[in-house]
Amino acid sequence: MVLPDPEPAGTPTGASAGPVVERLAEARRRVRAAAEAAGRDPAEVRILLATKTMPPEVIAQALAAGATLIGENRVQEVLAKADALAGFPHTMHFIGHLQSNKVNQLLPHIQCLQTLDSVDLIGRLQSRLESAARNLDVFIQVNVSGEQTKSGIAPADAREMVEAVAAAPRLRLRGFMTIGLNSPDRDAIRRGYRALATIRDRAADEQWPGAQDAVELSMGMSGDFADAIAEGATIVRLGSAVFGPRPAR
Ligand SMILES: *Cc1c(COP(=O)(O)O)cnc(C)c1O
Repeated sequence: MVLPDPEPAGTPTGASAGPVVERLAEARRRVRAAAEAAGRDPAEVRILLATKTMPPEVIAQALAAGATLIGENRVQEVLAKADALAGFPHTMHFIGHLQSNKVNQLLPHIQCLQTLDSVDLIGRLQSRLESAARNLDVFIQVNVSGEQTKSGIAPADAREMVEAVAAAPRLRLRGFMTIGLNSPDRDAIRRGYRALATIRDRAADEQWPGAQDAVELSMGMSGDFADAIAEGATIVRLGSAVFGPRPAR
């Protein structure tokens, strides 16, 4: 008698399919509930899984459970996981600080750069994309909280940055991204998210060049996504809510 295999084919050994799949379902429910509570259409809010430090087997479980959008914030991790994830259809956004000298390595592996934060980087991307004859979606990262440790342009420089992207024909501006204030003060966090939404709305109202498709707001993480959704987030970036606590680096 042949007993059925206890694990479905393709389940990575040593990793239980349970927790990630369940936490992903729970995160989806909470994101939907937050959208409804804010009077928004839940279909307007996508979950990006922030997969830093997670091994490809675990990321693959989330992709097999229907996740499609993932984000990494270190070039080395993108490269290290690329082969193992190639068989799982997904879209990869880069969500970390990108140094110009890593652009060539990274570009083949991403569909969007959410952290465009300098004119130098625009130049580097444009010339590399031109050689590769392809385009790239980008978000401008804005430092809405003004914290010294955070990347991103100052809100006052947003228009200038949008115009610089518009002058790079291989870049397609899709929206704006921010990392929220690291603080227990929810009102202060929400003010930052509101500031990002204001930039997007002004770009549309004042018809900043190249901003016609800049509709996305990537803001909110596991601890504060409901507030970000209330302020208009279209992408929330979830790590620990889905994967559990991360090991220390
Ligand atoms: C890690 C990370 C997240 C997710 O953080 P959690 O608090 O674990 O949800 C979101 N955005 C960026 C840029 C990150 O690096």
